[in-house]
Amino acid sequence: MRMQGKRVIVTGGASGIGLASVERCLEEGASVVIADLESSDGSARAAALDARHTGRCLFKACDVTDTAQVDRLFAETESELGGVDAVFSNAGIGGIAPSDEVSDEEFLRIIDINLNGVFRVARAALRVMYRQGSGSIVNCASILGVFGQSQTAAYTAAKGGVVNMTRALAIEAAPKGVRVNAIGPGYIDTPLLAELDDELLQGLIGLHPLGRLGRSEEVANAFLFLASNEASFVTGAHLMVDGGFTAGK
Ligand code: NDP
Repeated sequence: MRMQGKRVIVTGGASGIGLASVERCLEEGASVVIADLESSDGSARAAALDARHTGRCLFKACDVTDTAQVDRLFAETESELGGVDAVFSNAGIGGIAPSDEVSDEEFLRIIDINLNGVFRVARAALRVMYRQGSGSIVNCASILGVFGQSQTAAYTAAKGGVVNMTRALAIEAAPKGVRVNAIGPGYIDTPLLAELDDELLQGLIGLHPLGRLGRSEEVANAFLFLASNEASFVTGAHLMVDGGFTAGK
């Protein structure tokens, strides 16, 4: 029970990597808020998980592009659970398109969710965690935060931004007892991959020395480590969970 008594928020927690992280935290004794879009299955999932675990599982509708919704998420969680010990800033969208065809709106939308959203969540988390004098923020980056890939200009820009923003936040927050880290998943078998055609996907799988897609639980385990006291001397890291992708080929 590595997360016994901890209070955790997971953005994008109704699906894929986020949902697996919610489940692993509950299994390890935490209370968890699934923060996701109103349209998601988060409310039903939270009710089912709440009934199965001793820790609480709540759903809060939160679009990370809306500062007021993000700030309300933290205010309500602090008031209902008494604080926030760990946050997984995991909400994100994909986006593959030829760069000469990408509109301003499409580019800015990916940046607003995948980069600006991570900042909005971190800022709200820091305010609560500074008052507590403790906390762990984990941002979901990507192998595409350190590698380029064709037709992903906005996504790679956002994820590269998340990696370096994590370092800046880690240095700033360290004196106040707050750790900030990132996770860099390789290709993980979630609904996000639906936009990839099969031929592209097979080629991408071949770039992982372990020769397969990752599972959401495997990323969730990295979040659990970074969120827990086991990572008490880890801050500013970008922990790769990528089947060896960034080791090279
Ligand atoms: P999923 O699509 O399964 O989960 C993402 C969740 O975030 C969804 O529930 C989605 O809702 C939600 N979301 C989207 N936009 C917003 C928003 N504005 N505010 C709040 N929630 C939102 O994808 P993954 O689990 O694969 O992705 C999780 C994270 O992992 C992302 O940051 C992604 O970039 C990253 N990642 C994923 C990889 C992969 O191969 N799967 C590889 C590397 C990184 P909805 O379904 O309605 O869009």
